[in-house]
Amino acid sequence: MQRSGFKRILLKLSGEALMGTGQYGIDPAETARIAGEVKLAHDAGYELCLVVGGGNIFRGLAAAAKGFDRGSADYMGMLATVMNALAVQNALENVGVHTRVQSAIPMPSVCEPYIRRRAERHIEKGRVVIFAAGTGNPFFTTDTGAALRAAEMNCDALLKGTSVDGVYDADPKLVPTAKRYQTLSFSKVLADNLKVMDASAVSMCRDNDIPIVVFNIREAGTLAAVLRGEGTSTIVMN
Ligand code: UDP
Repeated sequence: MQRSGFKRILLKLSGEALMGTGQYGIDPAETARIAGEVKLAHDAGYELCLVVGGGNIFRGLAAAAKGFDRGSADYMGMLATVMNALAVQNALENVGVHTRVQSAIPMPSVCEPYIRRRAERHIEKGRVVIFAAGTGNPFFTTDTGAALRAAEMNCDALLKGTSVDGVYDADPKLVPTAKRYQTLSFSKVLADNLKVMDASAVSMCRDNDIPIVVFNIREAGTLAAVLRGEGTSTIVMN
């Protein structure tokens, strides 16, 4: 067993992780690099579920602020996550990792619908399952979708790949003396409104006792290192 003690994990990637240095959309080179990181973890024997966000293409809340109907905007956001999921699937298959995309909004000519027991079977066969369209409901985020799928799939941890190496007591990009937490409790995250994931995702992980590990996906090798119990991260747990 690996040192972290995790066997099955859910990796949440924000849509922005796929942008690379761009301001919008999908950067194929960065998507390929992330696929390489996922492959390292897969080759090390971990069972992997992925949830991909859509913020690099469309965010419902931002669009609603500019006058879109929130419900319609959120469905557009969910469709954006399907585009990202297909991009990640393509990049993973390019490096020989077998995958399936399952969407919370059925679109059978594009990918499988979300069927939990079928996803379970894919994982047993060594495939990486990429969950698209979040929860399938407007007024939610893919963070909450990730927490939900992590609970449904009995994942040992939810890994949140971001552009910083953990959770700090202040913004490390603005405050040079900001300190990184090694561990944090769910209740502190919620009480102090720390920006880990949105509150509904955090409380879902708390209630189902699923630790959240925040790490830097932009740093090569960190995903595999964090899974070995090495590397820099913050672990949020009960
Ligand atoms: N979304 C939604 N329900 C969900 C998940 C996502 O309505 O269960 C929509 C919402 O509009 C959101 C967009 O999809 O803004 C993209 O997801 P998110 O903002 O979570 O992506 P990320 O920030 O992770 O890139």
